Amino acid sequence: MDFIIFAPIWHFLISINMATFRQRALDEASMHTAQRFYAEEGPVSGYFGKNVLDLEKMQDYMSQQAYEAVLASVKFGAKLDRGVSNEIASGIKAWAIEMGATHYTHLFQPLTDSTAEKHEAFISVKDGKAFEKFDGSALVQQEPDASSFPNGGLRNTFEARGYSAWDPSSPVFIMDGTLCIPSVFVSYTGEALDTKAPNLKSMHALSEAAVSVANLFDEKVKAVNVNLGVEQEYFLVDESLYNSRPDLMLTGRTVIGHTSAKDQQLEDHYFGAIPSRVSSFMKDFETEAYKLGILLQTRHNEVAPNQFECAPLFCEATKAIDQNMMLMILMQKVAEKHHLRVIFHEKPFDGVNGSGKHCNWSITTDTGVNLLSPGKTPTKNLQFLSFYAAVLRAVHKHHYLLMASVATLSNSYRLGGNEAPPAVMSVFSGSTLYGVFQAIMNMNDVKESSASSQESIKIVNSIPEIFPDNTDRNRTSPFAFTGNRFEFRAVGSSQNVATAVCVVNSIVAESLNEFRTYVDALESAGEVRSSAVMAVVRRFITEARDIMFEGNGYSKEWEIEAEARGLRAVKNVPDAYEVFNEEQTIELFDHLGVLAPNEVEARFGILNETYVKKLQIEARIIGDMCLNHVIPAAVKYQNVLIENIKGMKEIFGDEYLGLCSSEIETLKKISKYINDVSSDVDSLVEARKKANRIEDIAQRAKVYSREVKDMMEKIRISTDNLEMLIDDELWPLPKYRELLFF
Ligand code: ADP
Ligand code: MG
Repeated sequence: MDFIIFAPIWHFLISINMATFRQRALDEASMHTAQRFYAEEGPVSGYFGKNVLDLEKMQDYMSQQAYEAVLASVKFGAKLDRGVSNEIASGIKAWAIEMGATHYTHLFQPLTDSTAEKHEAFISVKDGKAFEKFDGSALVQQEPDASSFPNGGLRNTFEARGYSAWDPSSPVFIMDGTLCIPSVFVSYTGEALDTKAPNLKSMHALSEAAVSVANLFDEKVKAVNVNLGVEQEYFLVDESLYNSRPDLMLTGRTVIGHTSAKDQQLEDHYFGAIPSRVSSFMKDFETEAYKLGILLQTRHNEVAPNQFECAPLFCEATKAIDQNMMLMILMQKVAEKHHLRVIFHEKPFDGVNGSGKHCNWSITTDTGVNLLSPGKTPTKNLQFLSFYAAVLRAVHKHHYLLMASVATLSNSYRLGGNEAPPAVMSVFSGSTLYGVFQAIMNMNDVKESSASSQESIKIVNSIPEIFPDNTDRNRTSPFAFTGNRFEFRAVGSSQNVATAVCVVNSIVAESLNEFRTYVDALESAGEVRSSAVMAVVRRFITEARDIMFEGNGYSKEWEIEAEARGLRAVKNVPDAYEVFNEEQTIELFDHLGVLAPNEVEARFGILNETYVKKLQIEARIIGDMCLNHVIPAAVKYQNVLIENIKGMKEIFGDEYLGLCSSEIETLKKISKYINDVSSDVDSLVEARKKANRIEDIAQRAKVYSREVKDMMEKIRISTDNLEMLIDDELWPLPKYRELLFF
């Protein structure tokens, strides 16, 4: 018996079969409501820092001697001996068990932009009796079998040992019933395999250099601290929709997807009312963050739909970095309760703003002076100018390295876009300061007459006291002075900021060391100190003048101008990584003791390898989605059209051609795009195969960045066109309007 299924019925059957995939996700998503899961009674001050064992609390759990050993370690990096570390461990254990912890872990930051943990239970058995065990050696050192973390050849797999060691400058805390011990991660032979170890070294180098310059003005300064305030941007997507997008799940971004008719053009999301489901989520993760001593201060909607931001109060940089990493973990955990996913990727959606992680960076002395804050007296102002000039020179000299330090595959989709920091570095100072710098550059030569020192005093005096409230806001600058700090805005939202901060610390340390050397030389030649300092300030500002830019960083004119000034833009990520092979970079890190040449080389390898792997995953997923989602949906709609046209022909005879002209046109377009997608996916596989045959990882990354990426972009044009042509009910993947507005 023949079965004749009429086109409309067939269409109906397809639609219940197919559309349910995306439709089910939408139905599920509509059931998710606003709820609180982590609400706490009473004011925040009542539970702030509850899950952290800070120095103050530590005193209650150990002897004065043990406590002082920790203190010395925190303040001066003193080593803990075995005896005392056992006592410290037993104190920490007592607190952790009181807090309900059952496990402990060293928490370290491998070169993957995320954190790593290996949990061990406290519970142990002796003579058939169970007890909680945690001794000094477990506190101080752990040996994770970490052979598969990226190491850039620093460790062979047969010598896979890597050690994590407690960093006492970061307090231990409890998350999810586990005692977390912030740690550095090094190889058997001592090379850094993480972001924390070099960063701690860069803090040290910067402190030494900054003290030597600060001592020109105040002999009492003994140490300088780096402060950091990290603004975290992110997107939220409903869990059910997220689970229906293989690309979001596996890469954190959508590799295909047509833009939504409405996105951010009405500028109605930025600072808008926070939706109640989002606000419940925010309150929940804030509560959990407070318990970990993270002082979150601001929350608001960002520019793109479903994009948000939070920022803590700035604090000492190591702590700020660790807290940012903890916050990211925490946000993801809390989001799951709310049936949400946090997207930290820098550019999850084409066509709308991406996310960054602004790093507000400043340096203060142990005497409580912010060295980047203009003072009330000419001496203080001269000190401020010295530090400012040193930063300018540092950023100018290493502008390409600084940009390369935030160059990753994911951030590259954002940088240089017309809403994101430009691909070339520049420093924005604001009109007041810029005017001061112009005046300094126009000064007579200090050497020539005493008139110049009069002049310099006049200039220094002219920096208005009210200056901090006076700075302009230039949102287009990648490195902007904002009154008493610099804001490095090119850092990506998914990155561990330690890498960027380490570079800033190092380049400024180098520059301050030079500053002091030049001042000393002038003083030895008989110059009085204030003139000597002013002369070096002037020299630094003049030499670094090309990095100063006050205009619109997003404009085409700036791109041209920057090139004319000799500033190198990061146009291609693997090309930018070559900066790690440049003499100037290797010397910088080596002289300061931040990274040895082999460690820099290892990082170069890891960066390229990570780039290749991530792009490979993206390329695979776009191929899978084309073959498993896009083409099948397109073929189904193609059939619907064919049935329709056939039916029209049956009823209207030759007239059908005129009556069906638009369906026929659509059918032709769909068929063409199906063919294009299909053959481009083949070419993409070929491009990958060809690239994978290249032995040299840096070379391979370069081929990936051009040929593989180009092919992906080409495919996307066809898939996004198909999305617009095909019956909405047949399209299996949540669309941009759903991901962004649900
Ligand atoms: P905006 O979005 O206007 O840049 P936010 O309030 O979102 O400002 O974030 C500013 C960040 O800068 C906060 O984390 C804040 O604590 C930090 N900050 C403020 N002053 C300093 C400083 N002197 N050094 C470092 N960070 C600072
Ligand atoms: Mg900011």
